[in-house]
Parts: sequence; structure tokens; C-alpha cells
Amino acid sequence: MKSIILDKLIVKDNRVDYFFSVDGNLQKYFKKTNHMFVEYNYDLSNIPRSILVIPFISNVIPLIWITNSTIIVDELDQSFYKCLDKIRVAYQNMFPHVKFKGNVFVKKIVDNVYVPEHEAASLFSGGLDALTTFIRTKDKNPILITEYGWHGDDVQHSDVWEADKENAIKFAKSYGLKNILIQSNYGTFIIAGNIDNDFRKKLGDTWWHGLHHSLAIISAAIPVAYKLKVKCIYIASSFSVRFQLPCASDPTVDNEIRYASGQVFHDGYELTRQDKVKIVSDYYSATKEPVTIRVCFKSEENCCKCEKCLRTILGIVAEGRNPHDFGFDIPNNLSEYVKSFLNDNVKFFTVSNINSWTLIQNRMKENYTEVQSKYVLNWFLDYSFVEQRKKLLLKYRVTKFFPILKRKISSKLNRILEQNN
Ligand SMILES: [Zn+2]
Repeated sequence: MKSIILDKLIVKDNRVDYFFSVDGNLQKYFKKTNHMFVEYNYDLSNIPRSILVIPFISNVIPLIWITNSTIIVDELDQSFYKCLDKIRVAYQNMFPHVKFKGNVFVKKIVDNVYVPEHEAASLFSGGLDALTTFIRTKDKNPILITEYGWHGDDVQHSDVWEADKENAIKFAKSYGLKNILIQSNYGTFIIAGNIDNDFRKKLGDTWWHGLHHSLAIISAAIPVAYKLKVKCIYIASSFSVRFQLPCASDPTVDNEIRYASGQVFHDGYELTRQDKVKIVSDYYSATKEPVTIRVCFKSEENCCKCEKCLRTILGIVAEGRNPHDFGFDIPNNLSEYVKSFLNDNVKFFTVSNINSWTLIQNRMKENYTEVQSKYVLNWFLDYSFVEQRKKLLLKYRVTKFFPILKRKISSKLNRILEQNN
């Protein structure tokens, strides 16, 4: 039988460690230590084990389902136990080419109940999505949850985490809010590449993007959300209902999650990325509060060079605002800079990239009179992403592959000539 058994759950101060064993051919999907941990800035001693077990189950349950295996744990919270099948069905609908089957075997189901004392806790990276959700839930005084899941078997120093943490603490302080800070190895204890080798083709997506990240991120927050009696955990959408893509972070999955007396809400799905740029830039222009929109993933500051940075910069420009006011140290010759970026990169743009950039272009046309004169990019208004991608991709193939082909032909020719000599 293929199974994952949680052997030990060890709680010490503000940290919980999970040690598990794996039967059948599932071991290839895990690092040999078979160990996951989560560390918080809160003491965990009074939290029931039936709640503490939730992060572990959440991280492995999609694997249990796609491999038709069994997970065995001693105790589990009743609300969470009940929502698992709804999550399974949501995934099944999202990925119809893979069967989501398998069993959850629990020795004792525990009914944990509380009267909520905090209306909201919100996952907060400081990025555009998170800032939008913050603005939308601000009157609920959300507790801000910030996470880092990329440690190895133990906590190690990470400049990225230090910068994220510092930003989250500073941000919370300026609004008189609390932070929940979480560090874990949920992003590394599973060997995602091995799952992708076996399932990527059928899923049409990667393990981390398609099945894992959202449950990992949300569930890590549940023990402290329980402790602080939070009514609802908010997670900001990263995609919009207008450009639906299969993704682990989807309202059909997230909104089914329950724990004790708490629930989860996937916020802002009705908004496009440009709508969010408008919400955030309007809000901060009106309040004059200082802000940095943190968009560069896994780096300490906005690089202002990558696709995501440039897309956000132009989105802000299209709203008639100055990117400098939102944490972007942009080059003086923005127009030339974007032109050469597109020249080099548009050939690699996905459909989703083109959708996002076209939204910015449309907004720039619509809002033309409001765009600050120094940031007017007239050429950009008529730029055809689809045509340019086609043209530049062809050019790229010609310049890159023809010399290779020529080399191959000439070496083959040489061999033939040598043989004939
Ligand atoms: Zn960047």
C-alpha cells in the first residue's frame, strides 16, 4: 500500500516538527530526512495537536490524491477533515486528466470550536496583490501573515526573508497591526522535480504551481490563526477570473478550506492586475502614505529590469502616477529602456504575459491625458505584441539556429569528403 504516516509531531516553544515515514514508491518524492517544520513568532504550547497537524497534511495531501495513496495521522480537526473532500473535488475539476483519489486515515477526529476575536488575517508579501487585499480589508484591522518556506532542514539565514520580514514589520507598525511571521521548509522537503517528471505532462502544470503552493502557504498560518481566534484568513488572488488558468491558488480550492471555527477567502479574483494597480496607486496618492510595491520575487529590492518590475512600472505610468513614488528606482530613459527590453524579450512572452501587457496598453490609451508627460511612450500605444513576438521569434531562430545547422552540415560534409578520400 502506498502511504505516508506521520510518526512524530514535536512541539517546542514556537516551532513544530513533523517526522514521517513513507511506504510504497512515494519515497522518491521526498528528501531522505522525511521531515517538515514550521516556526512562528508565537508560542505553540496550547494549540491542540489536531490543529498543528494541518500544515503537514496540507503539504502532502495533493500527492496522496494524485498517487491514490493513504495518509495516516493520529488526530485531526473536524472542520479541516470535512473540507478535504471538497478541496479534492475542486482539484479534480481543475485537472480532469489526472485522477484525484486516495484516503485520509485519522484515529481521532476532534471538534475544535472558538468564538472569533479577530475578523481577519491576511497573507502579506508587500506585493501588488497583497497591497490590494490590504486596502480592501483595512477596516477589519487584518493581522499580517508573512512567510518564508525555502529553508533546508533547519532555519538558515536568508537575506530575502530578512528583507521581507523587515518590510512586513514596518508596514504593520505604521498601521498599528500585528504580524504573524512564519518560517518553514515546506518549499524544499518535497522533491518537486520528481513529481513533475511523473505528473507534469498529465497535469499540464507543475506540482508547486498547480497543486502545492496555495495549500502550503494558507495551512502554515492556520495554527496561529487558531491561537488568535481569527475568523477568516485572506489570500490575495494572483490571477483574475478574466484570464482563468489552472493554479493551486484558486477560489474554488481556497474558499473551501476550514479549520476549527475559521475559514479562508480568496480575495480580488474579479480584478485584473491593472485594476489592482489602480486601487493601490489611487489609495496611496490620496493618503500620501509612503509605500513600496514589492514585486521582485526572491530578491530584496525591485530590480526594475525584469518583466514583472517593468510591467508594474508601466501599469503605474498608465494610471497617471510616478513609479518613483511606489518603490521603483526607474531609469531616466524609460521609453528606450522598455523598447530594448521588449526587443530582447517579447519573443519569450506567454499568452498570459501578452494579456497583462495589453491591459496596460489599453489603460494607457484610455487614460492618455493623465499620463505624466515625461513617461509618455507614444510608440508603445500601437505596439503589437503578437506581431512583434512572431517577427522577433523568427529572427531569433534564424540567427541562432542557422549557424548551428550550417556547422552541422559542413561537419557532416567534411566527414563524407574524408571518407571518400
Ligand atoms: Zn524585478
